[in-house]
Amino acid sequence: LPDADVEALEAADVATLLPVPGRASHKYTRGVVGVRAGSRAYPGAALLCVAGAASGMAGMVRYVGPDEVDSRVRQRFPEVVGAGRVQAWAVGSGGDDEAAAALAAALGDDVPVVVDADALRHLHHRRGPSGLVLTPHAGELAALLGEPRGEVEGAPLRHARDAARRWGAVVLLKGPRTLVADPGGRVRVNSTGTPWLATAGAGDVLTGLVGALLASGLDPFDAASVGAWLHGAAASRAGRGGPLVASDVAHALPEIVGALASEV
Ligand code: AMP
Ligand code: MG
Repeated sequence: LPDADVEALEAADVATLLPVPGRASHKYTRGVVGVRAGSRAYPGAALLCVAGAASGMAGMVRYVGPDEVDSRVRQRFPEVVGAGRVQAWAVGSGGDDEAAAALAAALGDDVPVVVDADALRHLHHRRGPSGLVLTPHAGELAALLGEPRGEVEGAPLRHARDAARRWGAVVLLKGPRTLVADPGGRVRVNSTGTPWLATAGAGDVLTGLVGALLASGLDPFDAASVGAWLHGAAASRAGRGGPLVASDVAHALPEIVGALASEV
């Protein structure tokens, strides 16, 4: 990648950006993240997205979704609360037929939004508000751009940049090396992670985590970058070189964050 606007994302960069609370912090200054994810068909995606959001990077997590999914979320996460003001939204993971309404509601609030999975199909050609992060894998980005998946896989950098410019958004293109592109053409390449991350629900955890980082006040490019790095590092820790399931990634996040925070 011989390109002045492409940078490798290093642990030291992430440590500098990490939102670490201080003595004067309280839960509202740390940020409130809202999650609108999951559906009756995919309740697990709500749990995984909330698990990423509840990684400790924000001060509070709100969940909004169908009643039966909501009760499962509250049962699993007693710290999660209901609708109210948020500083950022995480939307779309496992959203199924709930995704269009979830996206519209989130975009109606004047706060940053991270958009994943089913909600990506409802973006159309509408430019987002400032503070939009999209988290497609290659297939989802291909669908967004109206191109075959192979085209995106063959030239991920060009397509991530193209989408970032067209939607005025930060595009986090997931894959073996996750790319984070901003609308101005800047790209960060993340190399943490493991091929064992190619497992159902892994992306849902990432979306919740990026939402929490947005709520904490990081700008969209930094929130996406820090999220991708922490998510990959947590996966490597969780699997210890071997297989993992998505919830293992969420469970490993605090240890990764703690280790990084103690280095600054
Ligand atoms: P999703 O497709 O939404 O479930 O997200 C999959 C997650 O796994 C993303 O964080 C990807 O970056 C990661 N991932 C998928 N395939 C690989 C791979 N071959 N090597 C490393 N990470 C991968
Ligand atoms: Mg996904």
